[in-house]
Amino acid sequence: MPDSSLSPVQRNARESPQMNRIVVTGAAGQVGSEMVEALRGRYGHDVVLATDIREPGDGAAAGPFRLLDVTNPHAVAEVVRSHAADCVYHLAAILSARGESAPQQAWAVNMGGLYNVLEVARREGCAVFTPSSIAAFGPSTPPDPTPQDTIQRPNTVYGVTMVAGELLRDYYHERFGVDARGVRYPGLISYVTPPGGGTTDFAVEIFYEAVAHGRYTCFLGPETQLDMMYMPDAIRGSIELMEVDPERLVHRNAFNMTAMQVTPESLAAAIREHIPDFTMEYDVDPVRQAIADSWPRRIDDTAARAEWNWKPEYDLAAMTADMIAHLQARD
Ligand code: NAD
Repeated sequence: MPDSSLSPVQRNARESPQMNRIVVTGAAGQVGSEMVEALRGRYGHDVVLATDIREPGDGAAAGPFRLLDVTNPHAVAEVVRSHAADCVYHLAAILSARGESAPQQAWAVNMGGLYNVLEVARREGCAVFTPSSIAAFGPSTPPDPTPQDTIQRPNTVYGVTMVAGELLRDYYHERFGVDARGVRYPGLISYVTPPGGGTTDFAVEIFYEAVAHGRYTCFLGPETQLDMMYMPDAIRGSIELMEVDPERLVHRNAFNMTAMQVTPESLAAAIREHIPDFTMEYDVDPVRQAIADSWPRRIDDTAARAEWNWKPEYDLAAMTADMIAHLQARD
């Protein structure tokens, strides 16, 4: 008899470690490209099917891949069924800054895609991992610290879809028993795949420009403080959440998760520890500055630490050293 207290991923991992069958949507993106590699390393190469609306770039791991538009319900169902998936890592989305230039598309992809994934998960008995974001908070949210359970009145279309997505996943869990889990990622810093149009993209661009040219022009003001995390922590933490005993989870679908608080100035200072001549200028973009100003300065991730032992490994100094070492090795 299968142990019903375990998620499909856990059950399969216990009964037959190579039998997890996972579909990843948005696999060509900043998170997806590294998530696919980590999942393949953990569960097996061929059992992880990467999908995206576009072909993956150079940084992506080679392996099973299919083109998939998550707004097409029939295509989502066909891919999940034909792969006999028991888990979907749903990462396809339109992020904050891009969403503001195409709000209708952001709604269609973020809500339509999530609904299609949850529906097929309900019918096929799949577990679902979906990230939310610090964008699920807004100007009326207490900004420092931002509690796990608090006011969520975001004023971007991306933020609206993140809050609605958190609620929809809770609904599918409570109403239909779908094992849906998720985190609120902060800004993610990585060197494998460039970010896809978020407000925290500066925290990645700054490293590329520092290593290539020794200078960067930042689109947010110097004192704008936001939560950030290095990608290896985000990937490891997400997989750990999917593997934890579900009995422990109270906040299933929207765990605050953070590793460090960063301003453009503090990031520049950390980079100068390695590249002393690095210079920073500012050319503030009012749209992205307004988005950043509506987000928390520091989220409280006590619930994640208590319910599934979340703990970051990289602080600002460790992340900066690792980013620069990888980008310099590439040049
Ligand atoms: P990204 O923009 O780099 O990647 C998203 C991927 O989705 C892209 O490869 C894109 O081609 C794909 N996509 C877009 N429309 C699609 C469609 N209709 N069908 C299928 N695929 C489609 O974004 P990311 O940073 O990898 O984000 C992944 C998840 O993490 C998203 O849910 C995002 O909200 C969340 N998140 C990311 C960050 C961050 O800093 N990167 C922060 C908070 C939350």
